[in-house]
Amino acid sequence: MRIPRLTKSIFLDQFLFMQGVGVLIGLSFPYFLVWYGFDENMVLHWDFFLATQIAGQAVGLLSFFLISMVIRPHLKLLSLKMAGISKGLKKKTLDDDTGNDFKLRQIEIISNDEIGVSAQAYNKMLTSLIQANEIEAVYTKFSKVMSENLDVEVLADETLELLIQSTNIDAGAIVVSKKGALKLIAAKGILDADLLLEHDVVLKSTLKGISERIQVPKNIKIDGVLTHFYPSEVFIEPIEFKGVNLGVLIAATGANIADEHTERLLELFSRSIGLAINNAMTHSKFQRLAAIDGLTEIYNRRFGMDRLKEDFSRAIRDSSSLTLAMVDIDHFKSVNDTYGHLVGDKAIILTTSIIKSSLREGDIVVRYGGEEFLIILHGASSQDAVTACERIRHKVQDSILTEGEQQIRLSVSIGIAAYPEQPVSKEMELIDMADQALYHAKNTGRNKVICFGELAD
Ligand code: GH3
Ligand code: MG
Ligand code: MG
Repeated sequence: MRIPRLTKSIFLDQFLFMQGVGVLIGLSFPYFLVWYGFDENMVLHWDFFLATQIAGQAVGLLSFFLISMVIRPHLKLLSLKMAGISKGLKKKTLDDDTGNDFKLRQIEIISNDEIGVSAQAYNKMLTSLIQANEIEAVYTKFSKVMSENLDVEVLADETLELLIQSTNIDAGAIVVSKKGALKLIAAKGILDADLLLEHDVVLKSTLKGISERIQVPKNIKIDGVLTHFYPSEVFIEPIEFKGVNLGVLIAATGANIADEHTERLLELFSRSIGLAINNAMTHSKFQRLAAIDGLTEIYNRRFGMDRLKEDFSRAIRDSSSLTLAMVDIDHFKSVNDTYGHLVGDKAIILTTSIIKSSLREGDIVVRYGGEEFLIILHGASSQDAVTACERIRHKVQDSILTEGEQQIRLSVSIGIAAYPEQPVSKEMELIDMADQALYHAKNTGRNKVICFGELAD
């Protein structure tokens, strides 16, 4: 049953009702006394009515104050705390003005009635808000990681770092599927992460885009434990973009159970990272396409020159040596003229693979012109370069390009210029010197390696 409202204030209504009860008590009390046996002439008198009326009003007033004192502070506390939260939400922090932790904002539950239930509901709401706030804060950082990284490996690495920092995940890896094969692009806290690529569950999850959650029972002994800790739970979350499975996010926790916060973030991360990984992969594909020569799949001249500029500046800064070798196929025009352009292309491809296989890791080959190659040798003296280039020259000379019945023999001439043996200050000067040495090799019979230093002597 609902008592009708009299004013806009519940407490004022309460007061008026208590006063009404006081009036009723004041009016009915003398009759109750008559019924009890008191003398009518004494109690049904106006001054006795007045006295009982005053007493009734006083009881009404007193009970109103008592109720107010018992209930009002609790309601006031609740409203103050709520106001604090709303202020906090506007300021984007749920810590209070003195920097106190949110737990201090909880209300102590001291009753099991509606007031206790309201306090409980408030506490639950506060916890949910705190969790949502924490998730939002991590997600903001994650969005920054995603928007700032176009390098897929850095992106994956920073994503794992953030996940480990902000959840109870202790180790993780990101695997992508590239041209049908799985590739590990980042791993943290895993001893031999490459083993993951051979794992059936990882394979299945990547191919089918299925989410897996594996609970590892405590009493089980796992062979070749992959992590530095004992994982209790492993999650495999598919990463996809526009319905295409790009890979998986693998995460392991050593905690007893991954909490709700961890699960929520894992889901959010794996769901959002697909777009960023796709962008980064597309970017690196375009970068590659812009840097690579289509025929030989080595760097093109534009990229090669940019690279040389960087490498030369580094050599000057670090006082390290850098040597250039300019390679040109001898009498190439006649190869083209005799056997056709396609055979000429094959000769260029063959020469490229010989050059690549004769160099150290880190040395760079650039297709400088039609059948002309520039080699950048890091940390090599002119003598080291001569050795490497002689190897190339011999291999080309000994190779045979077969075209039908025809056996085509090739040779190359090579010019070398080394820094700091040649104390130049611009990379173009070094190129020019290598060119001069090449020109000399051509003019003195071809199929030769000449060093610019020898010309000067
Ligand atoms: P030299 O020994 O003096 O170097 O004589 P050469 O005939 O090799 O002379 P040059 O280096 O000037 O010849 C370059 C020739 O390479 C001219 C051009 O037709 C040919 N060429 C350039 N790019 C390509 C290519 O991509 N494919 C083919 N098949 N030929 C190319
Ligand atoms: Mg040539
Ligand atoms: Mg040429």
